[in-house]
Amino acid sequence: MESDGIAARLARVRERIERARERAGRAEAVTLVAVTKTHPAETVQAAIHAGVADVGENRVQELEAKVAAVGRSAVRWHLIGHLQRNKVGKALPLFDLIHSLDSERLAQALSAEAVKTGATARALVEINSVGEASKGGFGAESAVDAVARMAELPGLALVGMMTMAPFTDDSATVRRAFATTRRTCEEAARQVAGFRAEHLSMGMSNDFEIAVEEGATLVRVGSSIFGERDA
Ligand SMILES: *Cc1c(COP(=O)(O)O)cnc(C)c1O
Repeated sequence: MESDGIAARLARVRERIERARERAGRAEAVTLVAVTKTHPAETVQAAIHAGVADVGENRVQELEAKVAAVGRSAVRWHLIGHLQRNKVGKALPLFDLIHSLDSERLAQALSAEAVKTGATARALVEINSVGEASKGGFGAESAVDAVARMAELPGLALVGMMTMAPFTDDSATVRRAFATTRRTCEEAARQVAGFRAEHLSMGMSNDFEIAVEEGATLVRVGSSIFGERDA
């Protein structure tokens, strides 16, 4: 898509975020993570030109290519897709925040790599908020115990939670998924000293306004800005 189109769509998305924030009477800022997966590095450049400071990718290989083309410090890079443990070494230097910490084994691998390289892995704990078998992440009931164990791992900074709402037109179901994640995050912050409830990553093109109303601080929006992706 052309740069002008991106700038206009971006402005519209920002406006909708702002209105949702006002409706909910929320004072804190909401950060837009522009999801550029499947689009070329030129699209990332166009987004940066239009004022984007946070970019999300869901695959390590694609993240690597775009970081190489655009620059590691050009934006904050967010890894939003499942990370295989054998790619932790490659991925860790490339992202500022991983939204998709979906298992204790991945937490252990990130911790080990961070300790080895003197880095800190900043991560959001992924919540499978309605218990869908097709999705990864921690069930809301077991998440706080898991967070307590993962918070002990060196080199790993747990700074919030992320969820993907179920794919449905039923906004009540979507809202419930976001509210469950917010409550789980608040509960973890109450119970686990090493957990920081700084970020709630919730909301995509279809549901980011509901997510903002339910407390999202990071929304991950792709197709509303860059157009539909090829299947
Ligand atoms: C692709 C993706 C998004 C963005 O989806 P859109 O519907 O294009 O806005 C958000 N979060 C995750 C985890 C994704 O994989």
